Amino acid sequence: MSKLSHAKIHFNDQGTPVAADFDDVYFSNDGGLAETDYVFLQHNGLPKRWQAHPRSAFHIIETGFGTGANFLLSWLRFRQFRAQHPKACCQRLYFSSVEKFPLSHADLTRALTVHSELSELCQQLLNAYPLAVSGCHRLSFDHGTVMLDLWFGDVSTVLPQLDTPADAIYLDGFAPSKNPDMWQDSLFSQLYRLSRPGTQLSTFTAAGLVKRGLLQAGFSVTKVKGFGRKREMLTACLSDTPTAVTAPEQSAPLDGAVTIIGGGIASLCSALALTQRGITVTLLCEDADVACQASQNRQGAVYPNLHANLTDDSQLHVQAFLYARRFYQHWQQQGLDFAMDWCGLLHIASNSQLQQRQHKLIANGFWPEQLVQQVDPHAATELAGLPLAQGGIYFPLAGWLNPQQFCRQALAYLTKLSHFSVQFNCKVSAIRKNDGLWHISSNQQAYQCSTLLLACGSALNQFAQTAGLALNKIRGQVSHVENTAMAPLKTVLCHKGYITPQWQGLHSVGATFDRQGTEAVVTEADNSENLALVQAQLHQPAWFAQSRVKSAAAAFRATLPDHLPVAGPVPEQPALYLLGGLGARGIMLSPLLAELIACQICAEPLPLSLTLRQKISASRF
Ligand code: SAM
Repeated sequence: MSKLSHAKIHFNDQGTPVAADFDDVYFSNDGGLAETDYVFLQHNGLPKRWQAHPRSAFHIIETGFGTGANFLLSWLRFRQFRAQHPKACCQRLYFSSVEKFPLSHADLTRALTVHSELSELCQQLLNAYPLAVSGCHRLSFDHGTVMLDLWFGDVSTVLPQLDTPADAIYLDGFAPSKNPDMWQDSLFSQLYRLSRPGTQLSTFTAAGLVKRGLLQAGFSVTKVKGFGRKREMLTACLSDTPTAVTAPEQSAPLDGAVTIIGGGIASLCSALALTQRGITVTLLCEDADVACQASQNRQGAVYPNLHANLTDDSQLHVQAFLYARRFYQHWQQQGLDFAMDWCGLLHIASNSQLQQRQHKLIANGFWPEQLVQQVDPHAATELAGLPLAQGGIYFPLAGWLNPQQFCRQALAYLTKLSHFSVQFNCKVSAIRKNDGLWHISSNQQAYQCSTLLLACGSALNQFAQTAGLALNKIRGQVSHVENTAMAPLKTVLCHKGYITPQWQGLHSVGATFDRQGTEAVVTEADNSENLALVQAQLHQPAWFAQSRVKSAAAAFRATLPDHLPVAGPVPEQPALYLLGGLGARGIMLSPLLAELIACQICAEPLPLSLTLRQKISASRF
């Protein structure tokens, strides 16, 4: 992963954006979408091909997102297609677009003003447009029927990370003469790898280098009339069946049903992601309600753990964090009523080692300032609304969320669906594969399913098939504190622990790490420890002195030895998936990892790179 730079652009006399470094326009000077329509949609047989498409999702891969014009027109056409053919097999459009030099939000705003016919879609894209951080940003539109995977990075590094074949390829990018770095043999061979019988490709250029590259990679290429005054352009399709597709295609569950064992935030996010795709979900929960264990908190802090370099771990955190914000905002807009506040988060540099680490993190400049900034004690005091003796780093987009309320609201939403059911007080004792089905033994009835997802927190390794997971169960206690002097607190404050702004009169102050505890019980000693930690880390702030603990909650966090989660299929156990090892990060990690698993189960494009999937895969143990 490398550091990203925004595109350097100016607008020519016709108002068309021009890339300074490539001396080339983003779209034709007439500003119209006719060329996009002609070159990329019509020459990929769209929208007509959607009518007879045999799968529920249609996948377009594009090189060079630029201003998103190709995406916006494809979205509009797909929306129209869905309105005209609501019963067609093809229900979802995935648009995976790779961009090395993302436009800044301000430049994109200006560039899109020309598309007056698309203004509503342009506004939605602008609202969702992500920060310039490399990796995949999955943006969901039209109730999840249009998914934009915006992959920020160079095509040469991103394409090898994808493994879901495309149905159509928009081979865009600045002219080969102006951008020779992009038009390498590896580009054509990767596109060939990501094709399957029936895939079509089109490109605006008819350059000999492109034609030869496509032919050499294995495509059969046709020269056709170009748009307007342009003489020629190219289309291509497979001349034979590719042999080199890396990942075998998974198939959606045969009976369209998945059983989930669990009842916390990971399970509920998974149930939402699967039911949205029409999958029937049965949830087996050992407690009498959802979110009775590690998801029971009143206020969990949500922010990414950043390293000074672009490590895989930080990459995963940033992607998951940005996805989680969009995810929770979406569900709140859908009417789920749960407390959350993206009020910002200060991570106080409470010792000199941490101060140095934070300094390096900012100095290296990998992370945009919209994500993280360094603040001195004065600025920290202003942001927090309470006097602070130390500075630190500030995450303006971070905040807190009530996971228990979210889980209960998600359950209420799910139970209204005809393809969701839940069984409470259901303690699963064993799972066994027989005759292609998973047989589930429990204290209630026996269950069977074709696809099984284990998302049961600290019980994840209780089955014979998962016993090899070296899951650590760390008891943690959060104290709920009353203190009027602390009421002005406006941001989440993190040190070695954390303090949240008050919600319903109480602040959450946490959390302890107890590796010995075997019972999830609340202790007075842990409350004292939580209070003492604040006093020690923040230099005895006067505003904390009168804190009184009114209640507390304790649960087990489940972590894996490398502190990364586990998400994905279990090797050699067909149709068994795991989601867990989320530690204290369940609120942030669950939405993206649940989405990943839903896509793996449904054989849809995946929102994480191959490298990150390998990092969190069950096969690493
Ligand atoms: N499809 C775009 C649209 O609808 O607005 C127009 C694409 S513009 C002509 C070409 C794009 O390719 C630019 O945004 C440029 O930054 C991007 N690009 C150039 N070289 C690239 C590379 N090596 N990897 C990824 N993107 C690249």
